Amino acid sequence: MFLSDDSIVAGRYAGGPVGDLRLHPDPDRVVVSAAMPGWAWAPGDRYDQEGGVHPRDSRLLLRRVVDELAGGGWSVRAGFEVEWMVGWQTGDDRFVPVTTAPAYGMARVSGLADYLRDVMVALGDSGVAVDQVHPEYSAGQFEVSFAAADPVGAADTLVLVRETVRAVGVAHDMRVSFAPKVVPEAVGNGGHVHLSLWRDGVNVMSGGDGPCGPTGDGEHFAGGILARLPALMAVGCASVASYLRLLPSQWAGVFACWGRENREAALRYVSGCAGERERAANIEVKCFDATANPYLLLAGLLAAGAAGLADSVRLPAPVDVDPGALTPEQRAAAGIHALPATLADAITIFEADPVLGKAFGDSLVDTVATVRRGEIAALAGCTPDEVIARTRWRY
Ligand code: GLU
Ligand code: MG
Repeated sequence: MFLSDDSIVAGRYAGGPVGDLRLHPDPDRVVVSAAMPGWAWAPGDRYDQEGGVHPRDSRLLLRRVVDELAGGGWSVRAGFEVEWMVGWQTGDDRFVPVTTAPAYGMARVSGLADYLRDVMVALGDSGVAVDQVHPEYSAGQFEVSFAAADPVGAADTLVLVRETVRAVGVAHDMRVSFAPKVVPEAVGNGGHVHLSLWRDGVNVMSGGDGPCGPTGDGEHFAGGILARLPALMAVGCASVASYLRLLPSQWAGVFACWGRENREAALRYVSGCAGERERAANIEVKCFDATANPYLLLAGLLAAGAAGLADSVRLPAPVDVDPGALTPEQRAAAGIHALPATLADAITIFEADPVLGKAFGDSLVDTVATVRRGEIAALAGCTPDEVIARTRWRY
């Protein structure tokens, strides 16, 4: 298995020089690339040479988890927020932002009108239903969100969006980073995941009499995810640098709690606006970033939600303040725990998790853990600034 610095590790099940596989492009998702003229793109599924499903294929795994939920009458709509930072090509590995205009400000758009128009046009011409493009908080940072879709479709679109954004940057002599932390002093790039759960055409994230709106089933699904966030971090915060992004008061959601529209809770309940709630209500998982394999991450989230449904997991009381502003004693009294602070801690919890273990299988669990431990070893002894510098242009 290959690490972010291109070095190679082997685990108990995968990584040696023996064996082969076949990638089958999905003909239903072929896109003629608007950003790379002359090219087309398609996501692929991995099979072995006998035509059997490869035991470590994440897209087919997600399809299986989606099918299992469908067997119980459930469907999920998913969406991602894509944040990135844009710098100039400098000839070295520094990050020089293409704009230092104010956060969320129009001056950032007017100063980069050609670039942002090209991003929007390329995404639209590639069939992406863009909901919104906006300037984000940090210098050179932007964000695009796209319409919710079935989970496999949403993960496919995420990959397409990222590669499109990257290609448009190249055409403008810019360099694009989706890394969780691009410069030490700035708020990083998140990869927030939105989920709603549906049955018979009804969104159960809305319409309940619970504290903020999810129905009992919506609460169970969300409760299952909240309970497994520490384990899911090994999938969703996949790099050593991920844990440098996870700071309080940077909207990264570093506390395992939930609250309505609470940007410091790892699980933000998004109610939507009056008149659209039945369609729009969803849960947003904020702690993850773009180092995650989106197929694996959604498979893990859905498996956790399904376990919550099966066990009728209840949510704790919602949190309507900044959990980082509470004292440790107040947090403990409210049952709010900080998420794992290191990749090593997250791996240990992930390996011991029975629900993710059952969904992923031994071979995939071992492989994910081996890759993560390889990342830790490859960066051992680096200062945080060195970790950031070494991973900034790898994602
Ligand atoms: N950039 C922030 C993060 O690292 C998120 C900002 C926002 O709330 O969209 O997750
Ligand atoms: Mg954002």
